[in-house]
Amino acid sequence: MPELPEVEMVARHLRALLAGKTVRKAQLLQPGIAPEHPPRQFAQWLRGARVETVARRGKHILTHLSNGRTLLTHLRMTGRFLYVAAEAELEPHTHAVFWLDDGQKLLYSDVRRFGRLQIVKTAELDETKALRQLAPEPFDPAFTPEYLFRALKRSRQPIKLFLLDQTRVVGLGNIYAAEALHRAGINPQLPAQQLSRPRTDRLHTEIVAVLNDAIAYESTLNTDPRDLDASYTGGTYESLTRVYDRAGQPCLTCGTLVRRFTQGARSTYYCPRCQRR
Ligand SMILES: [Zn+2]
Repeated sequence: MPELPEVEMVARHLRALLAGKTVRKAQLLQPGIAPEHPPRQFAQWLRGARVETVARRGKHILTHLSNGRTLLTHLRMTGRFLYVAAEAELEPHTHAVFWLDDGQKLLYSDVRRFGRLQIVKTAELDETKALRQLAPEPFDPAFTPEYLFRALKRSRQPIKLFLLDQTRVVGLGNIYAAEALHRAGINPQLPAQQLSRPRTDRLHTEIVAVLNDAIAYESTLNTDPRDLDASYTGGTYESLTRVYDRAGQPCLTCGTLVRRFTQGARSTYYCPRCQRR
C-alpha cells in the first residue's frame, strides 16, 4: 500500500507529464472505480479540459483541470497510471483511458479495483467527503509541534495507532509510523496522551524528517512513465528503514534484535532498547 512519499512521487511525475496538456477524450471502462458518476458524465467533464497542475492531499492525487473541476484519484492497493502512445494496446486491467493532445494516452489500471476516481468542483474540494476530515499535511505550516501535542492529549490510543489515524496526522502509514517512532525513541505502545512536550517536539521533527528522506530517496530512482505504480519499495529501499520489516535483525542504532508484534491488526516493529518507553 503506497504511503505519502510514494503518492507524492506519482503526483510529481504526473505533473511533469500532464501539466499544460489537454484531454481530448476520456473513457471510463469500469464504472465501479468511479461510483459517484455515470461513465458518460465522467467522460463529458474531462473532454477538452486542460490539465493545470497535479497536486496531492493526503494520499489523494489531485489533477486540477481548466474547467474548474478536479480529478481525485486514490490508488489504494494496486492502482497505477501508464503514460503510453495513443495507439498502444490496453493493459488487461485498464479501467479508464485519457487521450491527450500530445499523441499519448494515460491509462488508469488497477488489478484489485480498490482505487477510486472522482471528479469534483475545485472550489468545493476541501468539503468533499474524501478530504474534509484530513488532518494538516506534515509539510503544511499548520502542522506544528503545538498542533501535534494538542492532538496527542486528546487521544486514548497507543501512539502508533494514533499516528496511523489520518484525521490526526496525514501521511504516515505502517512503514513511516514505525520509522518515525524509532527515530524519536518512543515505544509504539505508549498511550498517546502520555507523551511529554519535549518528546512531542522530537517526534514532530522525526515525522517530517522521515517523510522528507523517503521523498528524497525516491526522487533518485529511475521511474518509467509507462508504469507509475507507486511501488518505490524495490532495490536499496531497505537502507531507509531501520526497524520496519526487520524483526529478528539487529537494530541499526544499538544492535538489539528488532521485535515485531501485532497492533490494530497490523505488524509493528520496534527496538526494545531504543524504544523502551
Ligand atoms: Zn536499538
